[in-house]
Amino acid sequence: MDEAAVFRKDILRQFFDLGLMGIEIPEEHGGQGGSFFQCVLAVEELSAVDPSAGVIVDVQNTIVNNAILRWANADQKQRYLPRLARDTVGSYALSEAGSGSDAFALATRAVEDGDRFLLTGRKLWISNAAEAGLFLLFANANPAAGYRGITAFLIEREFPGFQVGKKEDKLGLRASSTCELILDNCVVPKANVLGEIGKGYKIAIETLNEGRIAIGSQMIGLARGALEHAIAYAKQRKQFGKTIGEFQGVQFELARMATEVEAARLLVYNAARLRDAGHPFVTEAAMAKYYSSEIAENVASKAIEVFGGVGVTKEYPVEKLYRDAKIGRIYEGTSNIQLVTIAKQLLG
Ligand SMILES: Cc1cc2nc3c(=O)[nH]c(=O)nc-3n(C[C@H](O)[C@H](O)[C@H](O)COP(=O)(O)OP(=O)(O)OC[C@H]3O[C@@H](n4cnc5c(N)ncnc54)[C@H](O)[C@@H]3O)c2cc1C
Repeated sequence: MDEAAVFRKDILRQFFDLGLMGIEIPEEHGGQGGSFFQCVLAVEELSAVDPSAGVIVDVQNTIVNNAILRWANADQKQRYLPRLARDTVGSYALSEAGSGSDAFALATRAVEDGDRFLLTGRKLWISNAAEAGLFLLFANANPAAGYRGITAFLIEREFPGFQVGKKEDKLGLRASSTCELILDNCVVPKANVLGEIGKGYKIAIETLNEGRIAIGSQMIGLARGALEHAIAYAKQRKQFGKTIGEFQGVQFELARMATEVEAARLLVYNAARLRDAGHPFVTEAAMAKYYSSEIAENVASKAIEVFGGVGVTKEYPVEKLYRDAKIGRIYEGTSNIQLVTIAKQLLG
């Protein structure tokens, strides 16, 4: 899947059949009735094998389903939750070419037209877009009001004027699609506004605050996967008549990696626990995402070194995990943006 840059449809089908795409969706809407913490565990486990699988389950559960559960009205829940649990992949479309970290500078416009809105603009970097049937998309319905014009829309792939554009050819996370979206007077019924008109900024911020915890879990899963490969190799590879795991230099490296993974895991689990308990968690979520993505890159890099030369080849999975780790410091708020959030809390 990494080489072909395609996520296998049969695996996606199994995710739906296993209930992994509707973990928090209530049973009456066809989901599992689970918790946010369980989403975090699912993303971690999948990411230990393939972080691209992790991000599909992550965006679906912790962003799209989560936002619909929190802000949709009864009619929207009835229309979309059973589909999201059964067979429809969801995408979250906030970023644009000119608005990344400064997400509220988005230029996509929504113009009111009777009982519908007409949306025009372009979105960039949208995960899962190649597979998605439903897009939670942000556009500004009142640019004069600045960010207070930002509104969230539920857009079906088949809506007139909507098109999924170019797919990016990436360094890592290659099996996860990342595409451009093109909206050309895209017709969206008013019944598909999520929450209130002009309150989309709140939906965007609050879903990202929670989604960040799950990116942390993607990164701790990835790091754990790399560590496990390194341990297995250290027990088997022989040099100087001994397994390399018998050398203290290698043992200490593995011990440091394991300590980093454990520390990051506790940050992620703590943020998820606080969120489920209804306590403030924004700073803890930023710390969890920041630290997990830093250590994931480090642990994957050290895992390659434990493998020696074969570590950089495609014979073993550690080079892929290293490539997959890079995105952790960038999406759902770069490391700098997480530090800004943490510093704000410290300094007021
Ligand atoms: C693979 C992938 C998948 C993605 N998936 C999605 C998705 O599903 N939906 C979606 O909406 N978006 C998605 N994104 C977009 C992602 O969230 C943005 O790329 C990210 O927020 C950074 O924005 P940018 O790329 O414009 O970088 P910029 O904002 O231009 O940042 C460039 C650099 O400047 C730094 N910087 C910017 N502002 C500040 C500041 N105030 N203080 C200090 N440093 C700063 C950043 O930290 C960074 O190092 C995805 C991106 C990628 C690469």
